[in-house]
Amino acid sequence: MRTEEMIASAIKHGEKFLVVSHMNPDGDAIGSSIGLSLVLESMGKRVFTYNESAVPALYRFIPHSQRITQELPREEVDVTFVLDCSTEERVGEKFKEFAGKGLVVVADHHPPSAPMEGLHLIRTDASATAELIYDILAELDVPLSPESATALYVAIMTDTGSFKFSNTTSRALEVAAQLLSFGANHRLIVEHIYESFPPERFRLMAMALGTLHFLKEGKVASVWVTRSMFQEARANDEMTEGFVDIPRSIRGVEVAMLLREKDGCDIRVNLRSRGKVDVADIASRFGGGGHPNAAGCTLKGSLIEAEECLLKALEEAMG
Ligand code: 5GP
Ligand code: MN
Repeated sequence: MRTEEMIASAIKHGEKFLVVSHMNPDGDAIGSSIGLSLVLESMGKRVFTYNESAVPALYRFIPHSQRITQELPREEVDVTFVLDCSTEERVGEKFKEFAGKGLVVVADHHPPSAPMEGLHLIRTDASATAELIYDILAELDVPLSPESATALYVAIMTDTGSFKFSNTTSRALEVAAQLLSFGANHRLIVEHIYESFPPERFRLMAMALGTLHFLKEGKVASVWVTRSMFQEARANDEMTEGFVDIPRSIRGVEVAMLLREKDGCDIRVNLRSRGKVDVADIASRFGGGGHPNAAGCTLKGSLIEAEECLLKALEEAMG
């Protein structure tokens, strides 16, 4: 039996489901979680949807986004879906301790390293986890509602960088087209995600742009956001989403990075590559991960120290 068929069978036979994704969720994590949960519910199932982090403000327009809670069920479920990641660590500590997971189904498009035990639908050629969810739902032959189609469309749109990245395959566009025909509203989604930013984000962006600097003869571009910038702009961490695309879009830049100060001495890093350097490999050296062209990790120390560490790893990778 194909994995999609095995998962479809587990859905048919199960009654209680838990849907989880990685902490600090992005559009794919949120959209896939909501999309799958809504369809399972439309089939008469009991569904819990969990994330360790709250839904970022950017994604709260997605219908039923409030169904994602920071509370795990108090009872055992038949099936747990782990979406857009494959390890308990990425989901979080509370989930790790939760004993009622039942059969675990991992649906992910990141290169796996030691995925949780269970059924695996892991395909790195998928543009987004939502594409895999779509395949599972196609197997079940259940119709999508405009709400679930919206959630899954958000996932594919954001994970392909609005259909700009190299993962914008014909399959990604085919699934996106199907989602539009089920009632996802492209224009409304674009307006919410790319045209409704709070002014504070641009105050912060202006300050961050002031830190833009080039390394390795212009092949690496880096932007910093300090704690005091956040305070001065009255901005929060969520508002930095998309900042790394600025250095990424500069001519001649092969690797772009955004470094920002978090609580304590943590430095959160977003890495982007144009294809020559595998940034997932760089991030994994510091306990992070991701895709070859988009990855992240967290380092300890100051911004300068973190950048030096990253640069050393990049020098080895780039020669
Ligand atoms: P972003 O830079 O947009 O936060 O993440 C880019 C990609 O890298 C996403 O697919 C995300 O899931 C992955 N990623 C980001 N941070 C981490 C991390 O700390 N660990 C792992 N394993 N993946 C990460
Ligand atoms: Mn994803």
